[in-house]
Amino acid sequence: MEKPSLLPLLDARLPLTEAKVAEAARLAGVPLAQAWGVVRYYPRYRGLPQGRLLVDDPVARARGFEALLREAEGTYPPLGLEALAPVYLRFTPEERYVEWQGQLVPFSEFRLPFALGKGGRLLPPEPILDLEGYRALGGLEALKRLGQGLLTPEGVVRAVEEAGLLGRGGAAFPTHLKLRAVAQGQPPKYVVVNADESEPGNFKDRFLLEHHPFLVLEGALLAALAVGAERVYLYVREEFQAAILGLEAAIGELREAGLLPLPVEVFPSGGLYICGEETALLESMEGRRAEPRLKPPFPVERGLWGRPTLVQNVETLANLPLILREGPAAWRQKEPKLFSISGDVAEPGLYELPLGTLLGEALRRAGAAEVQAVLLGGAAGVFTRDLAFPLRYRERLPLGAGALVAFGPGVDLWEVLEGLAHFFREESCGKCFPCPLGTAVQLEMVRRRERDPKLLADLAATLKGSLCGLGQSAHWAYQSLLEVEGAA
Ligand code: SF4
Repeated sequence: MEKPSLLPLLDARLPLTEAKVAEAARLAGVPLAQAWGVVRYYPRYRGLPQGRLLVDDPVARARGFEALLREAEGTYPPLGLEALAPVYLRFTPEERYVEWQGQLVPFSEFRLPFALGKGGRLLPPEPILDLEGYRALGGLEALKRLGQGLLTPEGVVRAVEEAGLLGRGGAAFPTHLKLRAVAQGQPPKYVVVNADESEPGNFKDRFLLEHHPFLVLEGALLAALAVGAERVYLYVREEFQAAILGLEAAIGELREAGLLPLPVEVFPSGGLYICGEETALLESMEGRRAEPRLKPPFPVERGLWGRPTLVQNVETLANLPLILREGPAAWRQKEPKLFSISGDVAEPGLYELPLGTLLGEALRRAGAAEVQAVLLGGAAGVFTRDLAFPLRYRERLPLGAGALVAFGPGVDLWEVLEGLAHFFREESCGKCFPCPLGTAVQLEMVRRRERDPKLLADLAATLKGSLCGLGQSAHWAYQSLLEVEGAA
């Protein structure tokens, strides 16, 4: 980090006082007004809710939300716990807990309590939390070859290109193009692992971080060496405390074993959905409110501190060691993708399936019986009943990061939609005009179960003028529900 960043300085001073904010501002070299703007913006600085909280995710909305809410003192945004939903949290001034199987488990100890569904190629079924265990499975081989000169940085980029790896965060941008763009930039350069997974219904990155930290780290290091970066940051959702501790332990093990070729640091995220947008993420790392930047320039040209930066999703990077271990052609034959499957299925959890698997087949693997509709891709996704839909990128429906939430007969899909509309209104950062206006109007329309296609067309036209993907996609689920109902 070229300058001390404001967020870690504030984190180190919680709970905040006027004097502590002033001290953090001075150390970060930012005006006091900017520091207060940041404190008021991020939930953990302005004060978290306390007491028993219901995680307000699409599965909780499908399970009788009003009744569940009567058992809580408030709600909390989706937290990658959809496979276990409905879930309550308990927040006290000292600690945050997940209520799980009658116990209060601190965030620092809570890992998603399931294995990868029915095995896969990318991941072994059980967690690999120690270096020896990871090496026994062929881990770090590609990194070693790179260190010995048996593999070149350009060889890494070429292998990723031959494999045809597309970004797994939702945008499906060709990974090799980003790698090559940063490789061509002038140093200093950075790699930022985007581990701020906040999309309702998604928990694949949370799972990877908690269960396979060495795989994620090897992928990030391979990318960093391929592009000539001088430092890796893991921007991890702040609530994923067990993942953060696990990553820090893994970094320590690699360092002790002399296997860390460059500095790697964990950066706890700002704690808002918009922090997952790559330029908003960079803004927060630089100590400002997480508001998206105008693009171009893209982060590969002007990223962290204005330097060329590779911002890459966790699952994307976790594929790099596998591509290099297996060879791009073998990897490409059955391109693996992680799917977070939750809702009305017998075995909710994480499944690795080849891209192109039919939606119905994916749900069958997870034990779905009767399905009324599926929310595909999360809040920025769509409802569908097309079980013959092939789960791959650049199809008629957006795959997003691979969230599949199944709803059985009897579920009130409008209640689920209301949860999504509420989520968007709460998470709009307010930087541009159409998004805060459109998401507020959308929530009102959904609350009165508005089905008029003309009004929805007006709403869509407003939201399309938004600056970033949050606003631009906020009405997709609404539009798709009317289509599913045959009303549009
Ligand atoms: S679209 Fe919404 S989240 Fe994106 S910049 Fe505009 S107000 Fe912020």
